[in-house]
Amino acid sequence: MFRPIQTIIDTTALQHNLAVVRQKVGHARTIAVIKADAYGHGLLHSARALSAANAFAVLELEAAVKLRDAGFQQPIILLEGFFSSHELDAINQYRLSTVIHHHEQLSMLSAYRGSNKLAIFLKINTGMNRLGFKPKPGNSALHALKQQEFIGEITLMTHFACADDAAEQQLVIQQLNEFSVLRAECGIHLPCSLANSAAILRYPQTHADWVRPGLLLYGVSPLPEKTGIEMGLRPAMTLTSQIIAIQKLSPGDRLGYGAQFTASQAMRIGIVAAGYADGYPRHAPTGTPVLVNGQRTRIVGRISMDMLSIDLQGIDHANIGSTVTLWGRGLPVEQVATAAQTISYELLAAISPRVPRCAT
Ligand code: PLP
Repeated sequence: MFRPIQTIIDTTALQHNLAVVRQKVGHARTIAVIKADAYGHGLLHSARALSAANAFAVLELEAAVKLRDAGFQQPIILLEGFFSSHELDAINQYRLSTVIHHHEQLSMLSAYRGSNKLAIFLKINTGMNRLGFKPKPGNSALHALKQQEFIGEITLMTHFACADDAAEQQLVIQQLNEFSVLRAECGIHLPCSLANSAAILRYPQTHADWVRPGLLLYGVSPLPEKTGIEMGLRPAMTLTSQIIAIQKLSPGDRLGYGAQFTASQAMRIGIVAAGYADGYPRHAPTGTPVLVNGQRTRIVGRISMDMLSIDLQGIDHANIGSTVTLWGRGLPVEQVATAAQTISYELLAAISPRVPRCAT
């Protein structure tokens, strides 16, 4: 190892979190959402740890191909479907399932020449207004799909805008009602998938046939009122680095780009090998928590591209080479996200490829 920053991925935590989710959802089958390099945790070792899931969902065709090439046999769903008809050959060859969310995709499907029946997740826009057919045209999309003999199982799906926000319960119920009306209009029973992590926790009535957890699998809470640990989950990612230099500031000395922090007293400052080019958020303010040798302290001054500075007042035995935990074991990523005014999803997914992932 050269530069001392790394993420340590606890694959047993992923297994544990999947078991917790499965216990919560009873008979519903689980689609493990491992898009964006498994939320920054690394695709293949995460998929291996989550291989008890009934299916995987990714966004990127390349990721789906990697999973098949690595030998995973369960359904792999492309969450945004395909972007051009050129992808249909690979979808057939690798036996992928695809979301269909737009009439353009329906038209492109006529170019499908595959030998395998194509499993479809038909996305219904029940109120998030991002992807999907409005319930009425959704019905006609369903009709169009049913005409094609190469179409295999069709699953109806929707996605909630605010399942994480208790104050927006009304919108979730409204989306659920829209979905139920469409479902009833279909006449036949089609499998359904609605719930992301927050809906799994807050709205058991949305579990249906397939749930689609992402964040929970990584041991992180989607709800503002609790951390993953408080829910019995185990955070899978720890981001650590080391102190690479120590500075002694006198009262009035200023620190870092913009000289934004001024020492009000004599201080020891640790310079840590982690910056925004590693994915640490540049806007994390003075006061954002970190651990040094397991003791809690704070970031001071601006985050640079490759370094950040921390306050070593009151920290025992902090020296060059001391371990700094930026989040993970002992410091929930939810707390860092709150301090940095962002969400845990962004912190996890933004870890840059130059940071080695070390799976344990
Ligand atoms: N379903 C869809 C369609 C998604 O886009 C996502 C993630 O953004 C998920 C499920 C998983 O969401 P979460 O990580 O909140 O469980």
